[in-house]
Amino acid sequence: MTLFDDPALTPEQNAFMNRSVLDRHVTMFRNAFTGTASPRAAIKTFCMNCAGNDLETAKSCMVTICPLWRYNGYRTGHKMGRAAPALSEGEDSACGIDESQLTLDV
Ligand code: SF4
Repeated sequence: MTLFDDPALTPEQNAFMNRSVLDRHVTMFRNAFTGTASPRAAIKTFCMNCAGNDLETAKSCMVTICPLWRYNGYRTGHKMGRAAPALSEGEDSACGIDESQLTLDV
């Protein structure tokens, strides 16, 4: 693991990079933290973090109550903003997110 100490990042972001980001994801997290990632790439970064850095988990996410679900660029057959495929019974919580922690205050 690379020890991260990037002056463009906050101390908290550097600590996060050292603690939680895999070497192969360093560029995408750094781009998101510095604001140089596209919105689509930033969402993919968030999904990768949410999925515990596991690509298959991000691809198979079926947490349809997540506000980012339709924008998860990892999902197979995904087209941003388009209608999602129909779900089979029980296909609603394959991701590592704790659905009980999702609250929307609108
Ligand atoms: S629950 Fe799924 S769509 Fe939402 S952030 Fe996590 S991986 Fe992305």
